[in-house]
Amino acid sequence: MRVHVVGNVCVDTTFRLDRFPAAGETLNASDHADGLGGKGANQAVAAVRTGADVRFHAAIGNDAAGAWITDQLSRDLDASHLTMLPLPSDRSTILVDARGENLIVTGASCAAAFDPLAASGFIRSVERGDIVVVQGNLDPDVTTACLKLARSAGAMTVFNPSPLAAGHTPSLSDVSLAIANAGEAEQLTGISDPDAAARELIRQGADTAIVTLGAVGCLVADGKGRVDRLVAPRVAVVDTSGAGDVFCGCLAGCLAAGMDLAAAARIAVRAAAISVGCAGTLGSCPDRREMKLLME
Ligand code: ATP
Repeated sequence: MRVHVVGNVCVDTTFRLDRFPAAGETLNASDHADGLGGKGANQAVAAVRTGADVRFHAAIGNDAAGAWITDQLSRDLDASHLTMLPLPSDRSTILVDARGENLIVTGASCAAAFDPLAASGFIRSVERGDIVVVQGNLDPDVTTACLKLARSAGAMTVFNPSPLAAGHTPSLSDVSLAIANAGEAEQLTGISDPDAAARELIRQGADTAIVTLGAVGCLVADGKGRVDRLVAPRVAVVDTSGAGDVFCGCLAGCLAAGMDLAAAARIAVRAAAISVGCAGTLGSCPDRREMKLLME
C-alpha cells in the first residue's frame, strides 16, 4: 500500500521565548531557527519514517526557499511530486513559550493556489488500496475534490481537517478516517464532549474517527459504535508543535504496514509523545530507527 500525502510545505521559523508578546510588544527570543514545516510535509515525513512508500504532493514557490525546501525534503523522501508555482514559497512563524505552548502564523500563497488534481500526477497515481492523507491547508473545494477522487479510486481516505477554514464545514462523506483534535472536533460537531463528538464525526459521514486529546492521548471510534481511549505516555513537554502531524503521519504509515486502526493509533500515540519531548516540528519527529522500534 502506498501513502499519498496531499498538502502544504513551508519554511518554519521558530522563535523560543519565555512568554508570548502582548499586542504591540516586542520581545527578544532566546533563540530562533529555520526548519522544514507545513502540516503536509510533517505528515509525509512521519509516514515515510515508518517505512511506508510515500508520495508527497504539494506546491513550492519558484524561489530560494523553494529550492531549500526541495533539498530538505529529499533527505527523507522522493521530492519529485512537488509542483513549482510562480509565487513566494509558504512560510510560518512559530512562537514557543517556556511551557512548550505554541502560536503559529502562516503565509500560504502556494497552498491556497495548489490544485493537485490539475498540477501533478496525483490522479493517475492513486490506486485501489492506497491511503490518501489530506489536511485543511488547501482550498476547501480542492480538498473535497481530492477526497472524492481518492475514494472513487478505491483508496482509504484520511482527513485531518486542520486548520479549519473559517465559515467552512468540510464534508466527511468521502472520509474513511477523520482525525481531529478536541477543539476541531467541537467546532465540526458543536459537541464539547470528545467521546460524543467522535461518534458525531461518524454520523456526519466518516467511516471511523479519532479525536486527539493532547497529553491525555486520544479516542478511537471504530464506526461500529465502539469508542476506545488510548492513554498517552507521560513526558516532560519541550515543544508540542507538530505532535498532531507526527500522530497522523505515523498512523497512516502503520495502516499502510497492514495494522488495524487500534494498533496503528497505539503506535501513533507513542510516536507523538516522543515528538513533544523534543524541540521543533519535523526536528522532533522520531527517526526511522525509533519508528522501527515503536512498530516492533
Ligand atoms: P499540535 O497542534 O500541537 O501539533 P494537535 O492540537 O493537532 O497538536 P493534540 O491533541 O494536541 O493535537 O496532540 C496530538 C497527539 O499528540 C495526542 O493525541 C497525543 O498522543 C500526543 N500528545 C500531545 N501532547 C502530548 C503531551 N503533552 N504528552 C504526551 N503526548 C502528547
